Amino acid sequence: MSITVMDRPSPPKERKATPEFTPDLVYFEPKTLEYPKGRRIFDWVQQEGIPYRMTTSHNRITNLPGETELEQYKNAKRTLVVGIRKTLKFDTSKPSAEYAIPIATGCMGHCHYCYLQTTLGAKPYIRIYVNTDEIMEAAKGYIQEREPEITRFEAACTSDPVGLEPISGSLRELIEFMADQPHGRLRFVTKYHHVDSLLSAKHNGHTRIRFSVNAEYVIRNFEPNTSRFEERIEAAGKVARAGYPVGFIIAPIIWHEGWEQGYSELIERLAAALPPDATHDLTFELIQHRFTKTAKNVIERRYPKTKLEMDIEKRKYKWGRWGQGKYVYPDEQADALRMLLSERIFEFFPKSTIDYFT
Ligand code: SF4
Repeated sequence: MSITVMDRPSPPKERKATPEFTPDLVYFEPKTLEYPKGRRIFDWVQQEGIPYRMTTSHNRITNLPGETELEQYKNAKRTLVVGIRKTLKFDTSKPSAEYAIPIATGCMGHCHYCYLQTTLGAKPYIRIYVNTDEIMEAAKGYIQEREPEITRFEAACTSDPVGLEPISGSLRELIEFMADQPHGRLRFVTKYHHVDSLLSAKHNGHTRIRFSVNAEYVIRNFEPNTSRFEERIEAAGKVARAGYPVGFIIAPIIWHEGWEQGYSELIERLAAALPPDATHDLTFELIQHRFTKTAKNVIERRYPKTKLEMDIEKRKYKWGRWGQGKYVYPDEQADALRMLLSERIFEFFPKSTIDYFT
């Protein structure tokens, strides 16, 4: 039998790895070059030929390129500000940890639902703090206050620190610091796979690395500019083999057509892709999609074509502690999501723990 050229199957397309983040423009705040991290980032910026400017304060950065607010927003997400963290009072971070440890703010991802869009307001650029030693010293104070209780610190409350790790190196420093704290624990969550520099860090099992995963529909439609699902899972396998406790955050859980199949497939894909050594001491955190009225307005302006459903009529209003309440799914839908995911998780990962559903 002869095969014509047209019959020949085309070779499978090789998907490119999600590249490490390189900013288009970098600002340095005063005195940052006096810190080793500031100096190192400065040398890297020069070596890479990235345009940079000195600024007296990030508050003075008002002239980001772009004709419209939307263009400026996109450019801000490609702008890095190297600064010093002045406030060393940590915010609380329930339910995942006792405190948020601030090593960076902002993110280059474009997740439509991301709450940083409202919390960072008019300053969506990325900031890396160079005074990690002072931040760790402050953490030590918080640990001592609660001894002999364990104190957990969440490093991903205001940023995706793994996406920035190749530039900052801050996570590695925190991991090694926390390894020596009998009563301190570190945790962070990510949608990026840039974990290689963390694999050789001394961690003593005191850092839990969690990967944010979701149904194919959610990743495809709402998470531009983040690492692919397969890359995140591969990274989970790597950190598990390096001895880190591993977890998954399924968030935001979104009610969509075919959600049962979508979320069942997610758990099956996790089970199929994870190496056996990643499944001991595995935790899951489940967070249903929620939004505030302010967030809805911001998201509709920034991602005008988004398919993200934010119909207030279809949601339940949940009063917030700090004033503005949130819209979550009505109890019946929330229960259905929680039950399906819990059943699937325990079916495929019987030894895992579900830390919470919220
Ligand atoms: S990766 Fe995380 S922090 Fe970054 S835009 Fe997406 S949700 Fe926000």
